[in-house]
Amino acid sequence: MEQKLRSLYKLELLDTELDELRELRGDLPDAVNKLEEELAGLQEKIDTLDTHLKDGAADRARKERESLELIDKIEKYKTQQLDVKNNKEYDALTHQIEMAENTISAYEQEMELYVEDAAETKDKKAEVEKERDELLELLNDKKSELDDIMGTTREEEEQRQKEREDALKSLTKEDLELYNHIRDAKQTAVAPIKRESCSGCYNIVPPQLILEVKKNDTIYRCEHCGRILVSEEIATEINID
Ligand SMILES: [Zn+2]
Repeated sequence: MEQKLRSLYKLELLDTELDELRELRGDLPDAVNKLEEELAGLQEKIDTLDTHLKDGAADRARKERESLELIDKIEKYKTQQLDVKNNKEYDALTHQIEMAENTISAYEQEMELYVEDAAETKDKKAEVEKERDELLELLNDKKSELDDIMGTTREEEEQRQKEREDALKSLTKEDLELYNHIRDAKQTAVAPIKRESCSGCYNIVPPQLILEVKKNDTIYRCEHCGRILVSEEIATEINID
């Protein structure tokens, strides 16, 4: 039981230390994640605009080619018209020529629209690219800031985690549940008795309870805050450096 109380107190010290290390990093990891997501979104936008431009250019090239083919056809129809045997054949060719001319003029209008659309799309793309580049710069700043902090805290954090695993070895699942339950509610779960008071809530601990706690044979909790009480002796003995 005494070992259990020591381990609980050690766990408290280690977790407080780990919380402080995490606090050093603050919301930087979250900020980096958010920026990365935002960046992926912008890149997707740029890709969509690129595809739009590419599809438009291919469509335009096809219409240009077809227009040239139609111009050739019109020339042929006109030549054929010189050899027709009757009005009916002549009118049929005139009709073909008109249809081809209509198609060409429709294509011309569409190609003009394409030029406008391509210019707009390129402007939009340049805007998004600028936004992306600014974001990328910000992201790189945050990342190197995070790397610096991680570099200094990582080693210590790993060491503390190892010590924590060790401390957990002498605790049961129930002990840990109690510890976590109090810690969730009170930020700290274990309070040494200092100057006859609970060092968690500063209320006086009755002399009889102080004596009981000193025996180290049961888990006693502060009557006021519910924290697990440990003796001043254990608190002096257990340190993390
Ligand atoms: Zn208390």
